[in-house]
Amino acid sequence: MSQCVAITGSTTGIGYAIAEAFAHTGARLVINSHLADDSGAAARLGKLTECHFVQADLSTVAGAQGFVAAARAKLGRLDTLVNNAGTYLDTNFDDLTEVAFDRTFDLNVKGYLFAAQAFVKGLAPGQENPSIICTGSTNSLAAEKNSVIYDTSKGAVLMLVRNLAVTLAERGIRVNGIGPGIIETPLSAKGLATPGVRPALERQIPLGRVGMPDDIGGAAVFLASPAARYITGQMLYVDGGILAN
Ligand code: NAD
Repeated sequence: MSQCVAITGSTTGIGYAIAEAFAHTGARLVINSHLADDSGAAARLGKLTECHFVQADLSTVAGAQGFVAAARAKLGRLDTLVNNAGTYLDTNFDDLTEVAFDRTFDLNVKGYLFAAQAFVKGLAPGQENPSIICTGSTNSLAAEKNSVIYDTSKGAVLMLVRNLAVTLAERGIRVNGIGPGIIETPLSAKGLATPGVRPALERQIPLGRVGMPDDIGGAAVFLASPAARYITGQMLYVDGGILAN
């Protein structure tokens, strides 16, 4: 039976690469963006597997619940939820705003929690190997200058993963995270394009290069698989070795 997977924030970047990695396993997919236009993502993935696009704003509770309900309706059931949609709105410390704080926490933390709640509520009794994967960051552990809102939101993702793992274990639901390092996506493009930034970053990465989105997909497929049946509450850092430095 094919795995049924819903991935938030998955028309570009890391979410798209996670969807593509699942597609190669034959999983049936629902991808998502807050935008109406999926940039052809569902059609591209549809050449590999069954793939539906559901537009929903994951920064609201109603959006998170609506996305999970619509994804379940499209596929008939959901085995895996990947909470991935995230944003980065930090400026330098003196210019930080309430709007940036609220928008970041609404999407990076609140959306993850309420999508997880909706996923759990709709599971059938005895459903095999249900799991939730949340995209954290190396910033869940390591602080970066002028990144206090994002870093605290990703620190919250680390505790969300640990808490939900403990809370949901008795229901047979595993909860894990993936902590990407520096990955080249639309989110990071501007920073990486700043003169001198990429080579400076690459000097700090033991594997010597910025990551690509498809460096991440395999970790998600593994964490959702029966091979990871005894793994819960973990954040798997996929960072070229940065945190080991
Ligand atoms: P991205 O900007 O390339 O992709 C974000 C996706 O989320 C897009 O599909 C976008 O349409 C969607 N999205 C944005 N706002 C949304 C909303 N309100 N509701 C639903 N969907 C929404 O970003 P990315 O770099 O691929 O980041 C994905 C995740 O990885 C984020 O949680 C980010 O914090 C995390 N991350 C990224 C990096 C990196 O270096 N790129 C590093 C560590 C962690």
